[in-house]
Amino acid sequence: MKTIVAGNWKMNLDPAQSIDLVSSLKAGLVKFPNTECVIFPPYTSITLLSELLSGSIIKLGAQNIHPEESGAFTGEVSALMIKNYCSHVILGHSERRIIFGETDDFINRKVLTSLKSGITPILCVGETLKQREAGLALSVCLDQLIKGLAGIKPENLSQVVVAYEPVWAIGTGMSASPVIAQEIMGSLRNQFSEKISKEISEIPFLYGGSVNADNAIDFAKEKDINGALVGGASLDANAFIQIAKSMVDGK
Ligand code: PEP
Repeated sequence: MKTIVAGNWKMNLDPAQSIDLVSSLKAGLVKFPNTECVIFPPYTSITLLSELLSGSIIKLGAQNIHPEESGAFTGEVSALMIKNYCSHVILGHSERRIIFGETDDFINRKVLTSLKSGITPILCVGETLKQREAGLALSVCLDQLIKGLAGIKPENLSQVVVAYEPVWAIGTGMSASPVIAQEIMGSLRNQFSEKISKEISEIPFLYGGSVNADNAIDFAKEKDINGALVGGASLDANAFIQIAKSMVDGK
């Protein structure tokens, strides 16, 4: 199973700042075996960084796409517009679900569009604190996973990546314990495999939620954690490089 270390920059860094960060990443990130490092800058930096990263081991991804290929969708960006620059796209992030009201059905349409365009979707699932406290963490995540991946042929499932991101751990500095993350991620894999498709066992599952340079190694040691989706710490080159190294060392 390959390891993926993904850096979600969110709505941060203008083009000049993006170039500075990528220059530091290029200088510090070495090629780890069987590992992909992918950064997700804002759209405004994508074409610039694509030139800067030509021939580099660092891949580029987008933070979102619209399900349609083109049309009257003011402010949106389509898979066709980014497919020559981006290998991955983050879909179903809790910020998109909660702040922008994205539904499982809408997210599923984007997942299908990204696959059709040859872009690897990283489908994010995760429960809120209220749902966890009500004992619903696994059922909420499984429901998001099943709905998000609906309509994908089993032979195409290998092109998908899943990220478990408990909402209460995102940007809060309060990461889930590696044991909690492993428990959910292992169960998600097993239950999806029993109910829907065995092919899920072959795709990477990333943990996301306050991953940093100190705690990354403990997540990497868990059996069902194949990488990390990193928000805040991905804006610091040294931290992101250390997380990538820990994700490899811990395996
Ligand atoms: C994220 O936005 O996907 C994320 C995990 O953020 P953070 O690492 O800042 O919690």
